[in-house]
Amino acid sequence: MVIGKGTKAIHAWRDIDLSSIKPITMPLYSSIPYEFPTEYRVYGKVLKYSREENPTVYAFEYTLAQLEKCRYGLAFSSGMSSISTLFTLASLKGKVLVICKEDYGSTLTLARKLKSIGLRVNETLPNEEDIVNHIENEGIVFLESITNPLLKVFDLEVIGKACKESNALMVVDNTFASPVLLNPVDYGSDIVIYSITKYIGGYNDVLGGAILLNDELLLNELLELRKLLGTIMSPYSAYLALRGLKTLKVRVLKHSENAKIIAEFLEDHPKVEEVYYPGLKSNPRYEIACKLLKGGFGGVISFTIKGTTNDAINLLRRFKIIKPSPSFGGTESLIIHPLSSSHKDLSEEDRRILGIKGNLLRLSVGLEDVEDIMEDLNSALSTL
Ligand code: PLP
Repeated sequence: MVIGKGTKAIHAWRDIDLSSIKPITMPLYSSIPYEFPTEYRVYGKVLKYSREENPTVYAFEYTLAQLEKCRYGLAFSSGMSSISTLFTLASLKGKVLVICKEDYGSTLTLARKLKSIGLRVNETLPNEEDIVNHIENEGIVFLESITNPLLKVFDLEVIGKACKESNALMVVDNTFASPVLLNPVDYGSDIVIYSITKYIGGYNDVLGGAILLNDELLLNELLELRKLLGTIMSPYSAYLALRGLKTLKVRVLKHSENAKIIAEFLEDHPKVEEVYYPGLKSNPRYEIACKLLKGGFGGVISFTIKGTTNDAINLLRRFKIIKPSPSFGGTESLIIHPLSSSHKDLSEEDRRILGIKGNLLRLSVGLEDVEDIMEDLNSALSTL
């Protein structure tokens, strides 16, 4: 058959035999549809369309699941899309969702908004006792292993036992700790959530989320919802996220090492009022942090300055290396003023309950030379 240039341009590459290629890194399968019949299956389903599954996305899911000691992993287009897919499931099943007031601001806001379309929500204070008291039989408990912005480490063992007793599902957003420092399943967690955008992506250039779990029924329910809501991760993001996983351990340990040095430096600084970091002996939850976190205490530090809200906001412009920017967990050191950014939607009452003050700053310690980060902090603080 003689074929035209238009057809050749589209199909000629198919003459190349690719079957003996053994790539060293997982290729990016950017193709969205797949030809059938094929034997290739993901979670028992034949590969056909990338809103359901994709080989590169699956390679990332499989690898992350291994790190999290889980059988199954599902990747999403952002941390919030994994959370919104889970909340949709909670709503469809009529489950009572217990949510902590110190969860990530958008998680809390989403739960509150979904109440108007039927999600049953129970809000708790950020302490084990209140969380345990709010658990409903067969409900869902959603918490973060290290909270934002005050970096409290919850005793997951206590909460895990209480969830088991009530047959409730324990969901842990482990974004701040990453699977390097903590595996929530060791303490009874049924579902682990991530914003991949942070430590796992690691380079401030990929947006993504993930859900890790062991229960097959839940897996199938989430797979169906992810397909219907269209919340799956893009193949290119999965490619970057998989690359991020390769250096995750090295990076998280170094972020943690740098952060501990900086936290100790800030604790002694005359312009600093209080430092919130789980790895400081002065932290009221230091013992719990030592029990749960292995190899380090994470790369994020919050601290209050000796000054006003305006002083804290103005300080953001006085850094040379540290950038005022909302994310965390990447190679670049970033700083925010929570009250005017991540937590601006919280009511006056919630801020008071949580203890988020106007002079509080949250620093994500990057992988720059630690002496340079310290010098940058010191010269900015000395202007106060
Ligand atoms: N969970 C936590 C703990 C977060 O800090 C964030 C974002 O900062 C999210 C979830 C949402 O992630 P994403 O920005 O990837 O949607």
